[in-house]
Amino acid sequence: MTSLIPKHQKAKALKPGSRPPAKELCSECGLCDTYYIHYVKEACAFLNQQIAELEEEAHGRSRNLEKSDDLYFGVHQEMMAARKKQPIEGAQWTGIVSTIACEMLTQGQVEGVVCVQNQPDDRFGPMPVIARTPEEVLAAKVNKPTLSPNLSVLEQIEQSGMKRLLVIGVGCQIQALRAVQSELGLEKLYVLGTPCVDNVSRAGLQKFLETTSKSPDTVVHYEFMQDFRVHFKHEDGSEELVPFFGLNTKELKDVFAPSCMTCFDYVNSLADLVVGYMGAPFGWQWIVVRNETGREMLNLVQDQLDTQAVFSKGDRQQAVQQSIPAYDKGVTLPMWAAKLMGVVIDKIGPKGLEYARFSIDSHFTRNYLYVKRNYPEKLPHHVPEYAQRIVNQYQLPE
Ligand code: FAD
Ligand code: SF4
Repeated sequence: MTSLIPKHQKAKALKPGSRPPAKELCSECGLCDTYYIHYVKEACAFLNQQIAELEEEAHGRSRNLEKSDDLYFGVHQEMMAARKKQPIEGAQWTGIVSTIACEMLTQGQVEGVVCVQNQPDDRFGPMPVIARTPEEVLAAKVNKPTLSPNLSVLEQIEQSGMKRLLVIGVGCQIQALRAVQSELGLEKLYVLGTPCVDNVSRAGLQKFLETTSKSPDTVVHYEFMQDFRVHFKHEDGSEELVPFFGLNTKELKDVFAPSCMTCFDYVNSLADLVVGYMGAPFGWQWIVVRNETGREMLNLVQDQLDTQAVFSKGDRQQAVQQSIPAYDKGVTLPMWAAKLMGVVIDKIGPKGLEYARFSIDSHFTRNYLYVKRNYPEKLPHHVPEYAQRIVNQYQLPE
């Protein structure tokens, strides 16, 4: 007699502290904390890069490599800049992500939302949950700027009998989610993604804060902004600005998680709707509607948003080319020069979508070199064709 229990339910989650299948490249996405570890060889973003195939399944087509905006930003129907007319106090930006999730629950589109609250004793320690009320969604507002095991709650979904679900997450989490989506027993899955880059372990985050901020213990929020500065917000409401070019690159070189140094899914290619900031003017959020499911989510909050068209200004390529050897050698400018450089670049540098391309190019070239040097055997399969084409625009050191 054959058993009716799905095969994956017999698999055993990874024991805490044991070495994950992707070894040091694991981004702690949470999949292996569940019996869905059964699918890890196909599903893990760091063992089996399959963005083009999964784009086809999620959006009905993979990105058109001959179209510049598709090449850079992935499959999309529309992009725009937006901000909430009434921002949510304490959200990362204006709170568009939290607002969509609350509306999805209150308007009955979904029964639960996978999102990340913080540990009771650590404001940046991630605590993934399935939120069932707007209050629980709002308790997850603001980035936990560290690797987060969002998918660790997946077993609870199948066991709860939930049929309609929204998952909020970053690229590596969403890639693994898409790969196991058909095993979750859902009737409808909505995926709301954010871009993500340069993430760190909790220990790495501490090192970053201590190396970069004057008051690491009081930081409640930070972001690498389009004005080429890191904006730290402190408990007392004060803001501290540190120019990118003054960061201690030598000290910080090893701070980013190895998973993030090998990632080429900055723009969260597989989400239905992406909400970030980097393609929008300062103070606005950047929205990428990838498919009809994404549009459905955005429509729920449209009347709460001011919007404007995206634009592109400047030319990033020289700045990217010059930054490659500087980063490689770990050059740190004296603070006065870094501030001056930040001011000049902010005045004449790339803006809007061109800033987003600047950031994508800088990270892809850096990550390509990292993979080539540390995991040469992974290079042919792990780097997607779109990323290879982006990297090919530049001259890289050996
Ligand atoms: P909020 O309403 O404050 O909601 C934030 C949501 O993020 C919450 O629902 C929470 O569940 C979720 N979340 C928090 N931490 C994590 C985490 N570690 N993993 C997964 N989900 C999480 N945008 C860019 O344009 N460029 C970038 O380089 C960029 N880097 C990012 C790096 C990280 C680690 C993260 C988490 C986000 C990044 N973003 C980036 C997205 C951006 O910072 C905002 O999160 C986004 O614009 C949404 O803002 P909001 O005010 O609408 O979010
Ligand atoms: Fe497992 Fe996720 Fe780590 Fe890959 S990244 S080994 S799927 S926990």
